[in-house]
Amino acid sequence: MKDGAPRWIAGVDIGGTNLRAGMVPCEGGEPAGVTSGPTRAEEGAERVAARVVEMIRAGMEAVGEGVGGVGVGVPGPLDRERGIVIETPNLGWRDVPLRGMLAGRLGLPVALDNDANCAAYGEWWLGAGRGADRLVGLTLGTGIGGGIVLGGEIYHGASDAAGEVGHMSVHFEGRRCACGSRGCVEAYASGPAIAARAVEGIGAAGDTVLASLAAENPDGLTAEAVCEAAGDGDGYAIRILEETGRILAVAVANLVHLFNPDVIVIGGGVAAAGDLLFEPLRAEMRRRTFRSAADACRVVPAELPETAGIIGAAAVLKHALHGSQ
Ligand SMILES: [Zn+2]
Repeated sequence: MKDGAPRWIAGVDIGGTNLRAGMVPCEGGEPAGVTSGPTRAEEGAERVAARVVEMIRAGMEAVGEGVGGVGVGVPGPLDRERGIVIETPNLGWRDVPLRGMLAGRLGLPVALDNDANCAAYGEWWLGAGRGADRLVGLTLGTGIGGGIVLGGEIYHGASDAAGEVGHMSVHFEGRRCACGSRGCVEAYASGPAIAARAVEGIGAAGDTVLASLAAENPDGLTAEAVCEAAGDGDGYAIRILEETGRILAVAVANLVHLFNPDVIVIGGGVAAAGDLLFEPLRAEMRRRTFRSAADACRVVPAELPETAGIIGAAAVLKHALHGSQ
């Protein structure tokens, strides 16, 4: 970069539960001055935006001068052109002109993108998909987010709605999904869906630590508990993760057929289960795809579980200003 050119970009990740912000070096690298806190979306967009501004100002103080703009990842759908959050069931917002709200307070250029797109873009820029020409990212959480990066650009589709990998169907008359459709991979392999599948099979599961955990906790199990039990060698929990891997593989195989990607990056809490999830996933993906496409595609865990969202959001602003990374 030239002398006097910005050295930092603020990246912000607005999640349903937590806000996170940090200063990302324009050339790439570890974010500095990372802060996080509860989103408290129920207080309304104005209050949340005010807190985001405070976090960015704190980050700017931490790095000194040279902050060139702000990238924001937020759940969609969005109108990126106009900088508006159209609707977020996660946050309960509708038609919020977030870009203008932040740009007006900060006096800096601001760009918005979908949070899952930002996570995929962060992994492409500085994480598990560095340098890949064709990347698809999945984030396994309360839902399943997705993002597609082709030739260094997020693929947005005709109305900013591309990359909704979680709503690819893996069963044409399968489980109901929150989106209104049936058989979406999210209805089987999101955190709550994994826990629900574990609870459903528990009566016939034989000896498993999950049975006593489910009995103790009236709200049922969590995917985290399933992963922990599997890590401790619980046979039933391991079978649930294997099945989760094979279900995810159906979606991943569809992505491989469609995009012939170099890399598919899978992040989110459940991805931390590692080989217990990834080995059955890769094996099933190979059974369902052409060999040349399977050989060309790495299916790997995310490398930036905490910071991909803010790094990718910063990359979105950088791309908006300069057109490339
Ligand atoms: Zn769905």
